[in-house]
Amino acid sequence: MEYAGLVENSNDLIQVVDFDGYLLYVNRTWSDTLGYSRDELSGKKFFDLLYDRSNCTCQERIELLRQGKPVPRFEITYKNRQGEKIIAEGNVSLYCENGEPKGVQGIFRDITDKKKTELELSNTEARFQTIFESSVAGIAMLAPDGQFLQANPALCNFLGYTLDELRQLKITDVTHPEDVEETIRRRNIALAEKSSSLVCEKRYLRKDGSTFWAQLSSAWYFDNDGNPLYTVPVIQDITLRKLAEMEIRKLAHYDGLTGIPNRSLFTERLNHELEQAQANSRPFALIFLDLDRFKGVNDILGHAEGYKMLCQAADRLKKCLRANDTVSRLGGDEFVILLSGFKEEKNLTKVCNKILEDLSRPYFLGMRSISCTTSVGVSVFPNDGNNATDLLRHADMAMYAAKDAGGNCFRFYSQEMTARAVSRMELEEDLRQALVKDEFVMEYQPQIDLVNKKVAGIEALLRWNRPLSGMVPPEQFIPLAEETNLILGIGEWVMKTVFRQCAAWEQLGHLQLRVGINISGRQFVQSDFIDRVEQLLEETGANPQLLEFEITESVVMNDVDMVINTLRRLRELGISIAIDDFGTGYSSLSYLKLLPLSCLKIDKSFISEVNNNLEDRAIVEATIAMSKRLGLKVIAEGVETQEQCLFIRSQNCDEAQGYFFSRAVSAEEIEKKWLTITDMENSCQELLDRMAALNGAS
Ligand code: C2E
Ligand code: MG
Ligand code: MG
Repeated sequence: MEYAGLVENSNDLIQVVDFDGYLLYVNRTWSDTLGYSRDELSGKKFFDLLYDRSNCTCQERIELLRQGKPVPRFEITYKNRQGEKIIAEGNVSLYCENGEPKGVQGIFRDITDKKKTELELSNTEARFQTIFESSVAGIAMLAPDGQFLQANPALCNFLGYTLDELRQLKITDVTHPEDVEETIRRRNIALAEKSSSLVCEKRYLRKDGSTFWAQLSSAWYFDNDGNPLYTVPVIQDITLRKLAEMEIRKLAHYDGLTGIPNRSLFTERLNHELEQAQANSRPFALIFLDLDRFKGVNDILGHAEGYKMLCQAADRLKKCLRANDTVSRLGGDEFVILLSGFKEEKNLTKVCNKILEDLSRPYFLGMRSISCTTSVGVSVFPNDGNNATDLLRHADMAMYAAKDAGGNCFRFYSQEMTARAVSRMELEEDLRQALVKDEFVMEYQPQIDLVNKKVAGIEALLRWNRPLSGMVPPEQFIPLAEETNLILGIGEWVMKTVFRQCAAWEQLGHLQLRVGINISGRQFVQSDFIDRVEQLLEETGANPQLLEFEITESVVMNDVDMVINTLRRLRELGISIAIDDFGTGYSSLSYLKLLPLSCLKIDKSFISEVNNNLEDRAIVEATIAMSKRLGLKVIAEGVETQEQCLFIRSQNCDEAQGYFFSRAVSAEEIEKKWLTITDMENSCQELLDRMAALNGAS
């Protein structure tokens, strides 16, 4: 045969069988594919080589061909020598020799591999379909312009749309308006860079208008020429996680009490503002503020009321400011405001005045209303500092300057404030050294009995002989000593020195005089205060009957029960108690009768104007009358003139202390001048002169 070679070498399986199915011919591909040699096949029926004979329809096909009918293309499954399935596809026709039909010839193509792949593909697709349909994550398929092509039930559920509705929409239609711009930007980047994937967090919009947070992982598919085909976004609802994150952020960044930003968020915003301001050379301001005497509210009304007041203050501050300003609570009653970009200093002044005004309106705390003023300090970038630390420190300093000026006012930072702060620091440092270097001395000021016309007592007053500065009056260092707790050591030194002095005078046989000692509140509330007093009495041999401790009203207001207890124990030791600077505190008079007191000292501020100011006069009269009724001795402090002295004597004030009689002088001078007076005959000339003048005038 001319073309026999073609048949033999064809890649298809070619076979010829007679009408009974006996194999007459197979080509090489056939025998290679099924693993049988041609010799082995002689006398074999073709049906025996099929995988499943029972279902074989070959005989029917042969019959059709014999009847001259066509047989369509079909699939046939062989079993090879190893028993494996070989699937082939092809067609058959009549085989004739010399025009005579002798059998059937078939030509088949091995499609085993193709079938396998097809099967695998359809399995995979079925699996993917299941995942797509049942996934809890929302999955979609989008056209490059964002049009929905496909969406799984989870996504339809998230968004509240049916699949048909979604197919009418683009991704931007279901994106939160604030995230649309970013979504488009990301898509443009993905298209430009031909990036295949992207992960981000964004907000989606449901059909009902509500919002949810989702984590988005998006995959992009491109054809071989780099044209975008479609994108597959996978969306997971992370709203709960986001809410938890926001809650944590809130806790970390907001003040639990007032709900306004705390120090941490404030610092973040301040640093951001600094960057912006530096880049654009625009000014901004820090406003530091602190409620005046807030501690008093807390102490007297309790913390719960104090907290209410702070919340109201925070609310008022928020209302004073624009939305892009930040008000924050740094702790306690301290607030700080970041005032972003302002045009003129005039505006800054306006804001400060508004703050002072709004914060000084009464606060309503349950049944009561309380008034409280505020001190405000301002620092401005870049003049007062170019970093957060300096700006905050300077605003704080300015706030203290406002406090020093009496509160209820604002101060802009100035360089003198730093100078003052430095000198205060030096003062503190020197004060720390003063005890060790033995720089303190005591002076004594006589108190004159206006009835018996003689010295009834002396008050011990502390002096600091500061190197290079000279004598520093106590008003300049006692408050600092109290703030720094140095007063404890200093107070102890005062007691020891005065106790010793008392004992020495007594031993010398001088007239027995009462000696007043000022006791600081800090000292008084120490738990071992009484123990120390007892110990010092023993050590020095001072006579407690001659000692009078002076405490101020504010000490008494701290904790009345504790104070009464301490005062009782002092009385048991024999020490008497005077209330100093009476009239300047905020105390109620009711406690007076509860306390074991022996004396009231009317503050010198009332005495100085007692002859001119009707109110001061009324206060002095009333205080003296009340003291008498309570059986307390009363001393007028700061008596400088004869008129003042005459007035208080006319009101039956017991004693007077002041420059009219004597300034505070050294122990030696006291001894020389005042302690030797035994009676009117040998009393000091100075006192005699004064008294004579008084008597003459009255
Ligand atoms: P204080 O206890 O009210 O003392 C009376 C103050 O008035 C003394 O001021 C005294 O020198 C002053 N003074 C007396 N007579 C007159 C007068 O006629 N006119 C005027 N203008 N002033 C007069 P000083 O010594 O400067 O003490 C001031 C305050 O410092 C005292 O007020 C007291 O609170 C405190 N202090 C003084 N020594 C001590 C101390 O040893 N310990 C403590 N904790 N505080 C002390
Ligand atoms: Mg005093
Ligand atoms: Mg006083």
